[in-house]
Amino acid sequence: MTQFEPVIGIEVHAQLKTNTKLFCRCSTQFGGEPNAHTCPRCLGMPGALPVLNQTAVEFAIKAGLALNCDIQHKSVFARKNYFYPDLPKGYQISQFELPICLNGHLDIELPDGSTKRIGITRIHMEEDAGKLVHQGAEAIAGSTHSFVDLNRAGVPLIEIVSEPDIRSAEEARIYMETLQLILRYVGVCDGNLEEGSLRADANVSLRPVGTTPFGTRTETKNINSFRSLERAINSEITRQTALILSGGKVIQQTRNYHDNTQTTTVLRDKEDSHDYRYFPDPDLLPLLVSQTQIDAVKTTLPELPNAQRKRYMEQLGLSEFEAMVLVQDIPMNHYFTAVLDQNPQIDKTELAKWLVGDINAALKEANKGFDNCPIQIAHTASLLTLLTTGKISGKMAKAFIPDMIQTQKSPDDLLAASGGGQIDNSDDLGPIIDQILTQNPDVAEKIKAGKTQSANFLMGQVMKATGGRAKPDLVIDLILKKVTG
Ligand code: ADP
Ligand code: MG
Ligand code: ZN
Repeated sequence: MTQFEPVIGIEVHAQLKTNTKLFCRCSTQFGGEPNAHTCPRCLGMPGALPVLNQTAVEFAIKAGLALNCDIQHKSVFARKNYFYPDLPKGYQISQFELPICLNGHLDIELPDGSTKRIGITRIHMEEDAGKLVHQGAEAIAGSTHSFVDLNRAGVPLIEIVSEPDIRSAEEARIYMETLQLILRYVGVCDGNLEEGSLRADANVSLRPVGTTPFGTRTETKNINSFRSLERAINSEITRQTALILSGGKVIQQTRNYHDNTQTTTVLRDKEDSHDYRYFPDPDLLPLLVSQTQIDAVKTTLPELPNAQRKRYMEQLGLSEFEAMVLVQDIPMNHYFTAVLDQNPQIDKTELAKWLVGDINAALKEANKGFDNCPIQIAHTASLLTLLTTGKISGKMAKAFIPDMIQTQKSPDDLLAASGGGQIDNSDDLGPIIDQILTQNPDVAEKIKAGKTQSANFLMGQVMKATGGRAKPDLVIDLILKKVTG
């Protein structure tokens, strides 16, 4: 039986985080009153002329640089002609023959630890269309009325087109996740799949294993989560395999993914580019970008996630897990950097451990996050200092954190209120332990008989007696010494 290999290429539409639209000054804000963010330009009124948003150009260049593309000194806006009620001009302004970015790549990390390079064919700029709202049904079929909301019409997008280098649904998901993180890092797109600010179309074809030519592809749309990207591709692989094995032929189609049934259905036969009668938009001059401009954008690029994760491990000594969590959680990462910047002497691995672990957990518990974190940077720094100088135990630190979130008190105040710091000398601990031993002669006997783990029970009693302030390893030491010695 023939074995098939999937060949996959992804087209990603990313909404650029500008305040205004691509060719007018209307707001790009999500969720306004229908048609509140419109003007003669984005409504396609006769005589209204487009004016290019320079921030959108800068963001497209930034994305291109982060994805290792060659930024083109000259690119051209073209009209992509088609009719749909959400497209008032009767054409979408896009880039076709000469896009702003070419020949990039993105390295993804596979679960086995290896790295795979996915080619990026091109990135072009385009405007978004509006939205149809159907009353009484999900789609136009079965609805009583349909409405047009043009708030989204003219919002700037970049389309990032990958080479057909992807070979599984899992690789596609990792590609998309890696891309999302990079776009968020460089700050050009908020990367929200649910709100549609990042959308993926999956092109899938099959070929017999060991052969070179590509098979006929389908393009699947309507994917709005990483999970549905993986499921949509797998369902398409299954469908095409069955079709070919039963003697059928894959037809070049645009298909729709349905999350409830995890299947795809045909939307339309796939159009070819000549169907759109592309031609350069006569209302817009070619987009010229100088090397100086590209270099200026380059200086604003932050360190990218992969490089940062490596630096966190190699230079700061963080574990792979903590480095990964920090890199994927941008607000937590900013907080980490802010604490370090203001307190360069701080123990970086301890800081990372506490942020990723107990502080993160306590914030979640309180329904808060690291953006607008209720714990001041300085308070986190003092907590770490108290910990690493042995003034408080880990247990005490853990108990302070919810208080620091709720009352915004400093750890020093909490320490004072708790009756003092960690008890870490045998003079003070000795009498307390003696008392606990007299109260628990049976446990002392067990320890004497070699059941040293019973000492943990006594330690619990000591902690209770000291309000959690006893130094744990010293307590264990003393108990063992007193019982056996
Ligand atoms: P269109 O706009 O018609 O979808 P594009 O060239 O913009 O065409 O995008 C094509 C996408 O499909 C790219 O991501 C490319 O890698 C992918 N692709 C092209 N041919 C195949 C194929 N035979 N199998 C799978 N993916 C393909
Ligand atoms: Mg396409
Ligand atoms: Zn407008």
